[in-house]
Amino acid sequence: MPSRHDPQPQFEDARLSAAHRAALRSLDRVVEHTAEPTEPSVAREAVLEQLRAGDVLLLTGAGISTDSGIPDYRGPQGSLRRSRPMTYQEFQADPEARQRYWARGFVGTRLMGRARPNISHHIVADWQRRGLLSGIVTQNVDGLHAAAGATDVVALHGDMRSVICLDCGNAEPRASFEARLEEANPGYRESVSVGTLDVNADGDVSLDADTVARFHTVRCLVCGSDRLKPSVVYFGENVPAPTRERAEELKAASRSLLVVGSSLAVMSGYRFVLDAQKRGQRVSVINGGPGRADARVETLWRTQAAPALEELDAALRRAGR
Ligand SMILES: [Zn+2]
Repeated sequence: MPSRHDPQPQFEDARLSAAHRAALRSLDRVVEHTAEPTEPSVAREAVLEQLRAGDVLLLTGAGISTDSGIPDYRGPQGSLRRSRPMTYQEFQADPEARQRYWARGFVGTRLMGRARPNISHHIVADWQRRGLLSGIVTQNVDGLHAAAGATDVVALHGDMRSVICLDCGNAEPRASFEARLEEANPGYRESVSVGTLDVNADGDVSLDADTVARFHTVRCLVCGSDRLKPSVVYFGENVPAPTRERAEELKAASRSLLVVGSSLAVMSGYRFVLDAQKRGQRVSVINGGPGRADARVETLWRTQAAPALEELDAALRRAGR
């Protein structure tokens, strides 16, 4: 099982190794306790006021999906405590890393496939239908907001829906790709037993080296390359420009920012807080643990996503919203 103490790959290209090292620093970031949470009833009123005013930009992270059985990276059971995800630089440079990724993903997808939206995803989709939100941006790649009926969700770090060829750019739907993997690996999944807790937030599971070695990868249907990557943004990789542009439009169209279930440890999420504050927009955070923006935000509600959203939703409904 790879761990944080694996030998680091050496990249010949200086730019690659710099990007890889930066990704490792991001993964290693420990979010410290920097601020006292807001008193819960005060926090609830503040967020309610935001929602009543409308045009709330909602940014969600792993904490909203843990109730669906998808572990987060940095929480108490966070997968970063057991193993770290490979960086984009490792993935694109190393065929063995790709084989390991796809073998583990092949098994993990089945477990991810069982994940269903939870009450928080349903409340969010409902708030969107009721016109309380200017937009939904998520750091999750699990597709559960859309599965709950939310529309136009901006998936900041991509999603698992397709597989991209790093050489020719061809995009293949995940389902077709999975079918090809099935065909190349009859009986493979059934031969592997993993516990749910071994699944990481991106569907990755831990497998031993022998199990990885007997997995057969498949190649790009267009150019035959074996450099195929899920359409998720890896550590060490940038958020694609169209996604960034869409996020910028939403920021400009919003009155305030509400963060749910994220420690904002990664810059692409933390930047939402910085940008909202530059625009003079109010920011609230609902999260179960400490976060990177805690000392900056107006409201810090230290609680799990589901009970907070249920309380908020009940109060909104009592008020006829
Ligand atoms: Zn290709």
